[in-house]
Amino acid sequence: MKRTLVTIGASYAGVQLAASARELGFDGSILLLGDEPDAPYQRPPLSKGFLTGSVAAERLPLRAQAFFDEERIQWMPSTRAVAIDRERRQVELHDGTRVDYDHLALTTGARVRKLDCPGATLAAVHYLRDLRDARRLADTARSARRAVVIGGGYIGLEAAASLRQKGVDVSVVETEQRLLARVASPWVSDFILQAHREHGVRFEFGRKVVRLRDTHDMHDMVSVELEDGTCLLCDLVVVGIGVIPNTELAADCGLKVAGGIAVDTCARTSDPSIVAAGDCASFVPHWAPEGAPACRIESVQNANDMARKAASTLVGRAEPYRALPWFWSDQYDLKLQMAGVNAGFTGFAVRGRVEERKFSLFYFRDDMLIAVDSINRPQDHMLARKLLANRVRISAQQAGDPAFDLKVLANRSEAVAPRTA
Ligand code: ADP
Repeated sequence: MKRTLVTIGASYAGVQLAASARELGFDGSILLLGDEPDAPYQRPPLSKGFLTGSVAAERLPLRAQAFFDEERIQWMPSTRAVAIDRERRQVELHDGTRVDYDHLALTTGARVRKLDCPGATLAAVHYLRDLRDARRLADTARSARRAVVIGGGYIGLEAAASLRQKGVDVSVVETEQRLLARVASPWVSDFILQAHREHGVRFEFGRKVVRLRDTHDMHDMVSVELEDGTCLLCDLVVVGIGVIPNTELAADCGLKVAGGIAVDTCARTSDPSIVAAGDCASFVPHWAPEGAPACRIESVQNANDMARKAASTLVGRAEPYRALPWFWSDQYDLKLQMAGVNAGFTGFAVRGRVEERKFSLFYFRDDMLIAVDSINRPQDHMLARKLLANRVRISAQQAGDPAFDLKVLANRSEAVAPRTA
């Protein structure tokens, strides 16, 4: 009898996992359950081109319907899994129906963290995670004049840049003392801050929002009140204060959850017949120092690459997940690309020219290259990914020397090194 793979969650990880299972020869039924009404779509443009209007909704789908038909992947929209019965190997759906599975994959992603101060549910408050949020925000942004963005992470900053490009006046409130504190080095934070200031964005650092208040004046203005008494008036609030992994289904059926659905290096949960991948999964990455705690990685790269490994595990060909993490963000004319993770770096070198807004920062831990952030230097980024994946030895002096040929070094390493992804 043909076996059934059920994937809960139909975004990057879910779609990739289904596609990879087919590619690897899985011949049974594949059900891809998604609680959103829209066909699986690309999320990064939502805070960028989709918001500015340069990317139309038609360009968002991750795969054409023909792909799902050809690969016999049954994508089920507006279908919410509410429980997993591991004993009977069944998933219960929102309408009470039960679906049998032989293999189960959890690609449930994450949801936005909500603001919890008084006034947080006013109509002017927007989040940016799914297409419905993005449509609603794009609609409001058409007539908005003044926005307050709460959170200076990637979502907040990309939204700020897109709104500025639409002529909206923007202030950003960030509880930390610098932007992107969770992920970027102080130099990148500073560079991005300057770029936003040049575009007229104002910043309020180190303070929390304590209340949002409807001013009841005729322009529908909302007052965003900070803990020191500052009030920012606006007609649009965009909140980007991080996400919470969707782990409830896993926890309720007794799977181990620790900051995310806990998985091993082959994407297996604490029940080895169930895999998890993407934003919802927590694991100890191969690049982390000895004894490092498990973490989640929120990126398109992680969702796709981890899903590929989870699919290998499901078809009985488990291999450890060892891909290099990489990320990107577009703000104004700046293309920020990050390869590797710079946590714990002890030194760095600059390649290129900061004043021309085309440079890369190469981060080293002791003598080892661990990460590279590139601004408007896409070629550096591509070469850095090869250098990092192949653990090539390069000195800070070489990295910072414009005459040193990175390409030759990266390509040579590519030719001799085993694949790590
Ligand atoms: P996202 O994916 O939403 O950008 P990040 O975690 O990368 O998530 O960034 C969220 C940012 O929001 C962080 O810089 C964090 O310090 C900031 N932040 C969190 N809570 C608040 C808050 N209540 N007010 C303002 N900033 C906040």
